[in-house]
Amino acid sequence: MMMYRDDFKILDQKVYGRPLVYLDNAATTQKPQVVIDALRSYYEQLNSNIHRGVHYLSQKATDEFEMARETVRRFINAKNSYEIIFTRGATDSINLVAASLGRTCLQAGDEIIVSEMEHHANIVPWQFLCEERGCILKVIPINEEGILQIDKLPELISSRTRLLAITHVSNTLGTINPIKKIIEIAHNQNVPVLIDGAQAVAHCKVDVQDLDCDFYCFSAHKMYAPMGIGVMYGKEEWLNKMRPYQGGGEMIKQVTFAKTTYNELPFKFEAGTPSVGDAMGLKVAIDYLENIGMEKIATYESELLNYAVERLTTIPGIRIYGNAPQKSAIVSFNIGKIHPSDIGTIIDKLGIAVRTGHHCTQPIMDHFGIPGTVRASFALYNTKKEIDDLYEAVDRARMMLE
Ligand code: PLP
Repeated sequence: MMMYRDDFKILDQKVYGRPLVYLDNAATTQKPQVVIDALRSYYEQLNSNIHRGVHYLSQKATDEFEMARETVRRFINAKNSYEIIFTRGATDSINLVAASLGRTCLQAGDEIIVSEMEHHANIVPWQFLCEERGCILKVIPINEEGILQIDKLPELISSRTRLLAITHVSNTLGTINPIKKIIEIAHNQNVPVLIDGAQAVAHCKVDVQDLDCDFYCFSAHKMYAPMGIGVMYGKEEWLNKMRPYQGGGEMIKQVTFAKTTYNELPFKFEAGTPSVGDAMGLKVAIDYLENIGMEKIATYESELLNYAVERLTTIPGIRIYGNAPQKSAIVSFNIGKIHPSDIGTIIDKLGIAVRTGHHCTQPIMDHFGIPGTVRASFALYNTKKEIDDLYEAVDRARMMLE
């Protein structure tokens, strides 16, 4: 994948006098030049508010925005483009479903199931519903390998279960959950399923019709696209049932002080001015990924993961958290009793960018009884040489801190 590295100029720099090794891709990926160019050309040539304008620029920007929606539809193979709702990101998407579904369908005593490996973005919005509506949160546990204990799912589902909200890929453990099977188990009990796809869409092919999920949420910035935009895919039948999340311009059909009626999909869920330029950036990022090929990216990242595990496991005292057979290119680890942030701080000075801490997954930290981990996460532009650099820096930090 070396040929694509030149598309990311930001990687070609030194920090503290050393070449930057960017391994914080689960937090956000870098943007290829085509995406940066798309943003620039939007603001240089097309900036205009959409949908409401009769003038040329507004109509052109509207067409481009809707083309971006169609590109997202194709990318995740949704049936209809109006099932693609633009949001600010995965967090916003999950909050949208929680608020909207909560208002529409949930009552005291109703149950929502999540898993122990969820990002806080897929825990806290459901806790709001528990507080506000008297709903009950149930949790699918993980085992010591960081694998979901799916055999516990059937006994967690009851006649009061109203939703299963689960991550496709764990941002801390890298575990790829067998979501198709999980969705089938839930659907057999008439339970709809929301998938948090924040860590999946840039790394494997996602087909929401094949998965048959009811909702699929993700952020653009983790898939080589701009920050500030994301997607909530929802099946038409659910979106029609749900009340809007936010009120304002664009989401209405008619407003009087006596009564307001709502716009059709997808606009019913897109109150206010959307991030038009970012949508164009997202479209270009998807074209970029598809041009390389999702399978090629998945195969390459899997090679990087295997190499990283092979090298890092030779470091004395290292423990890797998350050893599922199906794993995304994320390696979380600790060395003996050394605090993860001490390792992160030392290797930063050697040019290596990783993340340390709880990664917004405190229940995983509680499970393993640790304050945090060091997390290296890989993307299509990373190289084996960078993994060698990571290995050497981490081992050096170990020797300094032990
Ligand atoms: N879900 C998962 C699994 C994540 O890794 C993240 C971000 O780290 C999120 C949700 C939230 O994404 P955002 O902050 O882009 O809304």
